[in-house]
Amino acid sequence: MIKGMDLARMKQRLQEERTRQLALAARLRQEEADPVESGELSTADQHPAELGSETFERELELTTLSIVEGELNEIDGALRRLDHGSYGICEECGKPIDEARLEAVPWARYCVLDQARIEQALSRR
Ligand SMILES: [Zn+2]
Repeated sequence: MIKGMDLARMKQRLQEERTRQLALAARLRQEEADPVESGELSTADQHPAELGSETFERELELTTLSIVEGELNEIDGALRRLDHGSYGICEECGKPIDEARLEAVPWARYCVLDQARIEQALSRR
């Protein structure tokens, strides 16, 4: 647990972010389930480029949805850590995460060094 940190405020920030991401996820799911049908799609002189951009937008929505769901997982994890008193502790090295980093990314699980190391390992795959 980080001393001197306003955990109640961090919790509020996490909950606000969670509400925002949940609304976003719900909207994306809605759009995915019920795509706006454009009448132009059935016309013969449809530009292939426009068809392509429809597909692209759909893929973009699905990608965004999986990012949003990933962030929701991270936020839930951070809220759990807050309740268990392990919030703000790097899961890799067990040291406190820099407060400025938590201000920027309230659901951060790793300190800056370990985050960089993990990202580097992932990009090497
Ligand atoms: Zn660390």
